[in-house]
Parts: sequence; C-alpha cells; structure tokens
Amino acid sequence: MKVGIIGAGPRGILMVSQLFNQFKNRSDQSEPLSITLFDPYGIGGRVWRTDQWEGLIMNTPADQITLFTDESVNMTGRVFDGPCLFEWAPSNEAHQYLTAHGFSAQIIAAAAKLGSRDYAPRVLYGAYIQWFYDELLKLQPLEAHTSLIREQVTGLNPNPNGTATLTARGSEYTFDKVVMALGQQDNYLNEDEQKLAQYAQDNRLRYLAPTHPGDADLSDIPAGEDVIIRGLGLSFTDYVSELTLGRGGHFMHNDDGSLSYQPSGQEPRIIAGSRRGIPYYPKAISEKGYGEQVEPVFLTPENMDKESVDGKLPYSKFIELLKLDLELTYYRLMIEQRYPSKNANEFKQQFIKATDRQALIDQYHFNEEDLFDWDYIVNPFKDVKAVNTVAYQTIMINWLDSVTADAQQGSKTGPLGSTLELLRDFRSPLRKFVADQRLSNADFVNDFLTEFESNNNFLSIGAPALRSEQLSALIRSGIVIILSPGMEVKGDNGWFVTASPHRNADKFKSSTLLEARVPAPNLDRTANPLLEDLVQNANARTRLLQVGDKKVPVGAVDVDPQTDQLYNRAGIVQDAIFIWGVPLEGLRYITSASPRPGVNDPTLQTADKIAAEVLGLPTAANVQMV
Ligand SMILES: Cc1cc2nc3c(=O)[nH]c(=O)nc-3n(C[C@H](O)[C@H](O)[C@H](O)COP(=O)(O)OP(=O)(O)OC[C@H]3O[C@@H](n4cnc5c(N)ncnc54)[C@H](O)[C@@H]3O)c2cc1C
Repeated sequence: MKVGIIGAGPRGILMVSQLFNQFKNRSDQSEPLSITLFDPYGIGGRVWRTDQWEGLIMNTPADQITLFTDESVNMTGRVFDGPCLFEWAPSNEAHQYLTAHGFSAQIIAAAAKLGSRDYAPRVLYGAYIQWFYDELLKLQPLEAHTSLIREQVTGLNPNPNGTATLTARGSEYTFDKVVMALGQQDNYLNEDEQKLAQYAQDNRLRYLAPTHPGDADLSDIPAGEDVIIRGLGLSFTDYVSELTLGRGGHFMHNDDGSLSYQPSGQEPRIIAGSRRGIPYYPKAISEKGYGEQVEPVFLTPENMDKESVDGKLPYSKFIELLKLDLELTYYRLMIEQRYPSKNANEFKQQFIKATDRQALIDQYHFNEEDLFDWDYIVNPFKDVKAVNTVAYQTIMINWLDSVTADAQQGSKTGPLGSTLELLRDFRSPLRKFVADQRLSNADFVNDFLTEFESNNNFLSIGAPALRSEQLSALIRSGIVIILSPGMEVKGDNGWFVTASPHRNADKFKSSTLLEARVPAPNLDRTANPLLEDLVQNANARTRLLQVGDKKVPVGAVDVDPQTDQLYNRAGIVQDAIFIWGVPLEGLRYITSASPRPGVNDPTLQTADKIAAEVLGLPTAANVQMV
C-alpha cells in the first residue's frame, strides 16, 4: 500500500502515527506500507517552523498540547501513550534532543522551565513535533517505509484504476491513497487588499498582506516611524511582540505589580485598529487539570430538541441556551468571589431549576457592575459614541487592565475569564451541533458563521493574559495607539492613511500597512496551487448550502462527511483522495487547533478513523470528525 500525505504539520504527522498504529496492530501486514510526506516546510510544517522568531508563543497552555493518544480517545487503534508538550519539554530527553539538533540556548532554556500552564514558544512545539516524528520512525514497523519530500504539491488527479497521481516540482508520484492535511493557507487578495497592495507598489510603500506571522519579515520597518496595523486579533499580538520585544524592548514590574515598558529605541510607533476597535479578550490563566472541561447544563441535546421547531433550533434559542450556561458559571464564581454571605452551590441548584431566572438574579441583589450583561461583554464600548484618540487610550487601558486582572485570577476563579473559557470547553458539543446541522441553513450562514464566529473569536480565542498586560503597558508608554471602533484605511497623497471617521476626526499616515490576520480557509479564494488545480480539473468543489432559493458557498472543501473523501465537481466521491482539517472549516467547526490530551480529542479520533479507512479496515463508530 502506497500512501501520500500532503502537509507535515500536526495532522500530517498524526496520520503517519495512526497509519503505523493501524498497520501494526490491526492489519495482517501482508502488503508493505510505504508513506511519502510532502511539505516544503519539512516536519512540523509552516505554523510551527523552527526558523521563525523565537519570541512568538502558542495560545494554548503546554499541558493541553499533545500528539499522543490516550484512553479517552474513541478509536480502533492501540493507545500510543507519551508525554504532552509540557511533560516533554523539561525532560532530559528533550534537553538532549534540542541540543543535538542545534536549537538555540534561548529555546533550550525555555523548554527547561516550561510550566504546565505556560505558553511555549511556537518553535518549541515545532521541535516537539520533530521529536515525535523521529520517535515514530524508531518504532516504524519492519514492513513499512517512510520518506519526506520537501516540495509543494501542485497537482493531484485520480486515475481510472483507483489510484491517484500527484505532481511536485515537475515529478509525478502515484499512490493508492492520498491524504491532504493542508492547514491554513494564503488566499488571493480581495478587492480592497488588492487596491492597497497596488497603491503600495505605485507609491513605494510597504504593504504586508494577510499571512502567517511566523513568515512575515518586519525587519525593514524603520524605528521611530508610524506603522499601521489593521486587525486586533492574534496576529496583531504577534506583530506587536515582534516590533517591541523583538526589537530589544523589555517589560518591568512596578512596585504596584503593574508592568512598564522599557523601549530600546528601535521600535516604530504602532497605530492599530479594527472594525470593533477592541483587542480580543485575554485568555484566562489555566487552572484546569488533565481532561478537565465544563459540560453544558443548558446547551444539551435534550434542551435543543425541546426548543427546536420542525427539527431546527432557531439561532436565537441557541444563543439563549448558551447564555444560560455562561450566566450560571459567571454568577457562581461571582458569588464565591464577592458575596461571601451567599452560597454559590445553592445558587447553582436554584438557577438550574428556576422558571423565572431574572427574578432569582434579582433576589441575590448583585451590584450593578457585577451583573452578567451579554451585550456589554460582546460590545464593551457600545455607549462610547464620539471619542478622540487620546481619550480612547484611557478607556482602552482601563478595559484591558480590568479584563486582564480577571483573566489572571485563573480559568476556574475569575468570573468573566472562566465564563469565556466555557466557549473553549464547549468546542466538542458545538462541533457536534454543527455536524448535526442543528440550525437551519439560513441561520447557520446568516448568523452562526457571521455574528457567532466573530463574537466567539473576540471572546475566546485571544492571546494569553500576559500579552494583554503587555499591551496595556505599551499603550501607556505611547508605543501603541489603538484607534476607536470603525477603523478605515486608504491610500492618500502617497501615504497610507487611517482613521475612525465615525468617532473622531483624527488621522494617522504611514508608509507601512500590516494586515494582521491569517487568511480564512476558503476554497473559492485559495492561492494554494494544489487546491486550485483540483478545482480547475473538476476534482474538488466548494460546499454549498441551500438558503432559500440560493446555493450559498461556505468556503469549505466538500467531502463525504462520513469519510472525509473528496467529492469531485459532480458530487462523486473520489475513493483515493482524503482531505481533513482546516480546509473543511464551514462544514466542520474549529478545525484549527492542535490535539489536547484526556478529552477524547476529535483530531485524534479523526486521525485514527482516516488511517483505518486508508488501510481498508473497519473504523470506530460515532467518531467526531474535525
Ligand atoms: C499563527 C498561528 C498560530 C496558531 N497557534 C495555535 C496554538 O497556539 N494552539 C493551537 O492549538 N493551534 C494553533 N494554531 C492552529 C493550527 O492550525 C493548529 O494548531 C495545527 O497546526 C493544525 O495542524 P494541520 O496539520 O492541520 O495544519 P498546519 O499546521 O497548518 O500544517 C499544514 C501543512 O500543510 C502544508 N501544505 C499545504 N499545502 C501544501 C501543498 N500544496 N504541498 C505540500 N504541503 C502543503 C503546509 O506547508 C503546512 O506545513 C495556530 C495557527 C496559526 C496560523
């Protein structure tokens, strides 16, 4: 059996692991197994490339990252147990590996002191993936052979005899099965981006299109000049770190515990903004143990069934049920923290049973500032209409300091941060919710993929709290200026000019514009030559949903949802070609996360299932695919 795997990020490497596992433990091994991996970035892939700036850190605590399986995983293969990132990094084995493979003293030191809830440098996770792969090769079954070709695949075609042939740098390779694990990739620029890129070219300005922050070269941005950053999410945090810490700046603790920034003098001044005008909420410091996740009390299949009309849950009811779960955790922790005379457990029981929950909340006489106000959480400055940029910095610092203080209390203590953390805990139920098509297509496309996704990103995928603490210090030092909501950017008089015209008349100009966002997976806009080739040759199609009398594309590559085998344009399953992970976002939900130990992780389940399918073996039932 000859298998080609395109992409050597976490999913590609997991596929190798599960193929070995299935081959060794479940097949008769009558035919040798040959695996060829393709990825220009090598083992670990692009996000986790080990030559990126070492100051870029992960957004997931080190004890929640693994490539090994465990007893919780619904799979047919044998459990392949081993250390998660946190267990591996400080070990002697890691020390020896990192030293022998030429990692820097800084990475070796970071590994040695990595705590369970710390956020590892991305380079260190890259090293962990490489180590994992090397360990796999040591355990490679006798009848198996694995190789890596560091090339981009530019074409893939099914053959009439059931095999598939791919093209990489002019050479053709034929396989019995091909598995694509392509991750997030670049898109063609949209109209607005194209205009700005063209303007930059015509006026000799710098324009950085949306890309992976680890690939971006910011070295020619001059010190002392203004740079405009559009986007206040995770990539913004990366770029700010690189332009401050990466330029030799330092943070120092003041006597009152707050941070101050000591500039190196090499920083530009950063003018940043977005439509919402607010950076993502910080991630609460993890207090959760192995496999620990909160289960929904209200957003359950039973309640969803009860609230459904003609088999579909209205979006408003979905938000209502979700909000009840969030409120429950919020008030429970608020009582524990600020209302010692009241009993949090009693509140919980009463809240679950109550028919009039507002009356119950009223009975507890919470202070006004302690009330759960969803509209305010989602839009903290909704009452701030006109505000000049200087005044907005004070509003922003106060907000950042307040949400950071809450996040620093921990993910089981700070009332707000712990509540937002539920959105991460609920990823599996939400994935099932999407897979079961609980919402009507119209609600899914018009509300879930727009409003909910945007709010969910803002509330729950933010950077670690230490980064928002640093951002507050950077704003105080004048190195970063955040524009009020409604940021606009255009080319004007030979410069990029940015402003938030609905809030004030302030304008900033710069010769540099950084687009701080990783391109969203979208088959209709992808610049990945392999996916383009598949579409052009009618071997792939975008998933469409019927909304009213229209078929609406959701950006995902269309697959047989049971097997992840690719549909061609005509909707025929191509047996030899599998694709999983990020390019299926829209059909699946939250595909861009690395596996977590102890939680029946869906990426680990899917890897096992696809590996069994590739080898023609029976698969586990009720697998949650992602
Ligand atoms: C900047 C950034 C930070 C992130 N931080 C976190 C985090 O802290 N925690 C977390 O859980 N998740 C994080 N993620 C999400 C990330 O997607 C997953 O953690 C994980 O990397 C997904 O694994 P993957 O193998 O599916 O995709 P990837 O890791 O993206 O790997 C896909 C690989 O496929 C290769 N490829 C694509 N097309 C071709 C082709 N045509 N030919 C050959 N090779 C090809 C690419 O080069 C790439 O190496 C982050 C993502 C980004 C972009």
